[in-house]
Amino acid sequence: MLGIFGGTFDPIHYGHLSAAWQVFQSLNLTELRFMPCNLPPHRAAPLATSEHRLNMLKLAIKDVPGFTIDDRELKTNDISYTVNSLTSIRHEVGDTPICLILGADAFNQIHTWHEPEKIMKLAQIVVLGRPDITVNKSKITPVDRVYFEQNTLLDISASNIRNMLHNNLTPKFLLPDAVLDYIKREHLYVNH
Ligand code: ATP
Repeated sequence: MLGIFGGTFDPIHYGHLSAAWQVFQSLNLTELRFMPCNLPPHRAAPLATSEHRLNMLKLAIKDVPGFTIDDRELKTNDISYTVNSLTSIRHEVGDTPICLILGADAFNQIHTWHEPEKIMKLAQIVVLGRPDITVNKSKITPVDRVYFEQNTLLDISASNIRNMLHNNLTPKFLLPDAVLDYIKREHLYVNH
């Protein structure tokens, strides 16, 4: 099964990486693709450019077998709709089962996404636990297409990391050193 993990990754951190790795192992995925979005429909535009976010992802996964990057959403200048990306991936991979991986906070909003029923037909949904987020199961149809990963809950968020950098603090041990070095070198997230 192919896993697709969408997000802004502004920046990628160990909350993403650790949970993704646990899903990769427990579902025995053949490949897990991080799919950075261009302009997310439901939130403010990312602070770092697409190029920086992509470079940070590359640094974060470079030694992890099975982890790859799908940059199709960055190649458009449009809002990124998951249903469109999944449709094009489905055309490419034929009958290979696909799962869409998302955090519990994102899952609780899925009914507000563009064509959620179609998304659920295109892919099985895998939900990652996040601290302090309770999954709202009442919105789930059909329930058998949703898998809840019992991942280690890490209270790490990109916004917290950006705030630390903005306040001249170093978010060491919350994201890979290679990504942190890149952020420092490129002076990302200092002014916002
Ligand atoms: P921000 O703080 O800017 O909202 P974020 O840390 O939530 O960012 P995103 O790139 O928006 O990161 O997240 C991509 C996906 O990863 C989302 O589905 C989100 O729910 C999930 N995710 C993010 N952080 C964690 C975490 N610590 N544990 C589990 N899932 C996470």
